Amino acid sequence: MMTPQNHRFTTEIVHADRLGGAEHGAIHQPVHTSVQYGFDKVEDLIAVFQGTAKGGFNYARQGTPTTAALEAKLTQMEKGHGSIVFSTGMAGICAIFLTLLKAGDHLVASKFVFGNTNSVFGTLADLGVDVTTVDATDAAQVAAAVRPNTRMVFVETIANPGTQMPDLEGIGALCQQRGLLYVVDNTVASPYLFRPGSVGAGLVVHSLTKSIGGHGDALGGAVIDTGVFDWSAYPNIFPAYRKGLAKGWGLQQMRKKGLRDMGGTLSSQAAHQIALGAETLALRMERTSATALALARWLEQHPAVARVFYPLLESHPQHAQARKHLKAGSWLLSFELRDPEQCLPLCNRLQLPIKATGLADTRTLIIPVAHTIFWEAGPEVRSNMGIGDSMIRLSVGLEDVQDLLADFEQALAAA
Ligand SMILES: *Cc1c(COP(=O)(O)O)cnc(C)c1O
Repeated sequence: MMTPQNHRFTTEIVHADRLGGAEHGAIHQPVHTSVQYGFDKVEDLIAVFQGTAKGGFNYARQGTPTTAALEAKLTQMEKGHGSIVFSTGMAGICAIFLTLLKAGDHLVASKFVFGNTNSVFGTLADLGVDVTTVDATDAAQVAAAVRPNTRMVFVETIANPGTQMPDLEGIGALCQQRGLLYVVDNTVASPYLFRPGSVGAGLVVHSLTKSIGGHGDALGGAVIDTGVFDWSAYPNIFPAYRKGLAKGWGLQQMRKKGLRDMGGTLSSQAAHQIALGAETLALRMERTSATALALARWLEQHPAVARVFYPLLESHPQHAQARKHLKAGSWLLSFELRDPEQCLPLCNRLQLPIKATGLADTRTLIIPVAHTIFWEAGPEVRSNMGIGDSMIRLSVGLEDVQDLLADFEQALAAA
């Protein structure tokens, strides 16, 4: 009998469905669209409600066999203890904050985070959760922000759009020492390039819409429990979810409060599309990372370009950190031109990159950052996050590198 643990990343993923036992020998998990799940005996229905049955489904807001198959795949990819999938990455992030934090708690977060996550920090403050944002590339700044009521530390592996990397290991050691829940948004790196559990993260978040889904055709999010965190010491677990092994308490509470009550449920159709996308994660990450590095190197030597932000460039402030932890540099790349007036004309002269927001589609996407995704944030937040007025963000797609380089060559020649 083949055991998935014996195999490498992609072998494991492409055989996971079959080994999980799909009906009729199907080699992909079927798409289960039923909302209701019925039982022959009412005792079996009761067992699912009371959580005494192993697995089992009752109402699709809490999951279906199709979303469960994707959850199993994600748990395997992050080598975790368990997972929950959500309708979007933001639904997963909100589920963590709103089900695990209470008024009077304190959250320390990296100031280099996804713009909408930063917007949620404002909501948390209104609800009575104090949030301190710090430069998490320096673990000492995180340590200095910790208070007696701090519960959680939140960072992104590779921050969007500036590609800053937090001191992943230093923060992990700090969280372990102080008993803090360490949450890492691993969307840009993906479990193929880096596993946050390896540096002590308790929870990993993904926007499945990006690297893992990878085709720009389905929204989704996930929270994976790495099994590292000791939930028995966490004060915010309701008595109803302090049942069974403490390892499962966090996910139990997040599934009931975050999925059953808040309703940010992933559809089976989207789960199927994302699960299929996940099978080619390694291939796409290798390809887009190689292209992004070639583009980053080419842009860095171009006289019209002022700065390039890419973790695997020697000029990147956290280059050593990137070399140590990342298998490759991922698809996210930003740069600034010497002449800020050329920012918008350059975007228009490029023929291949599509002028669009979003990340990790099969096509290369380009966007001027200050004018769009960080417009609402305002000049103060932008400057605090190191976002210049002429910063351009690229999400590198699957195109052939020679074609992208030729396009940049013609577009920059005029700058
Ligand atoms: C896109 C993104 C999110 C939000 O995910 P959605 O699926 O769009 O809701 C969260 N974090 C990061 C780093 C992202 O890039």
